[in-house]
Amino acid sequence: MEGQPRLPFCFFAMLEFCSMEISSLVTSLRNTMSSHPRTAFLTGAGISTASGIPDFRGKEGIAYASRHYGMRYESLISHSTLMSKPEVFYDFYWSRMVYPNAKPNAAHLAIAAYRGENAVLTQNIDGLHQKAGSKNVIELHGTTAKYSCLSCGRSYSLSEIRHDGVPHCPSCGGVLRPDVVLYEEPLDYSALEAARDIISSAEVLIVVGTSLNVYPAAGLIYEFRGRTKAIVNLEATPLDSYFDLAIHGPAEEILPEVLG
Ligand SMILES: [Zn+2]
Repeated sequence: MEGQPRLPFCFFAMLEFCSMEISSLVTSLRNTMSSHPRTAFLTGAGISTASGIPDFRGKEGIAYASRHYGMRYESLISHSTLMSKPEVFYDFYWSRMVYPNAKPNAAHLAIAAYRGENAVLTQNIDGLHQKAGSKNVIELHGTTAKYSCLSCGRSYSLSEIRHDGVPHCPSCGGVLRPDVVLYEEPLDYSALEAARDIISSAEVLIVVGTSLNVYPAAGLIYEFRGRTKAIVNLEATPLDSYFDLAIHGPAEEILPEVLG
């Protein structure tokens, strides 16, 4: 297998042929990317786990929400909980959703270094694509980096506010909210429209680190009209058969192989 990309493991079976199959998929996608086609990257929580950010929608996050609060995480981080029980909302929020010291990993860096025209559409709220150097990033679910006052509307950055308890507006004392799309709230229409335009005009779509079960962001993949669509995810997803290439493994190992 000299010259083939090296991949550490396969989640389907501990069989040699399986890692060989992944290597051939990686080679195929690497060949596609070698001419630097215009590419849309659609990323989810799985791209940031190697940066130490757990998926708060994952099994562990669900169990934590239930154990500590007796609530489903969808309820915890909903608009109504922010409005009615901000102290409960922010207790979960600061402990599970904000990681100001996290650093981009090899997957974020590989995307940022990709030389073809590209845009990143992310479901993540961690800002790691921008920290890695990506310039054209659409944050479909908002960001933990910015806050606005529910009373006067003034905006603040994360570094300007306290990182525990309910943050209040330094100007008027009102409760601050994160510029994150909460449950019960719609996605930003203009961001969604921009994302649709980017995907529909891309030559290649690469989905990374999401099992595509969070709508409406996941529905964006059906806007794609280009020639190659691929998914890179740790585990198989129900939508794998929609893609030309489905590669199962850690994004921080595979993307540098594919894009480097
Ligand atoms: Zn205010």
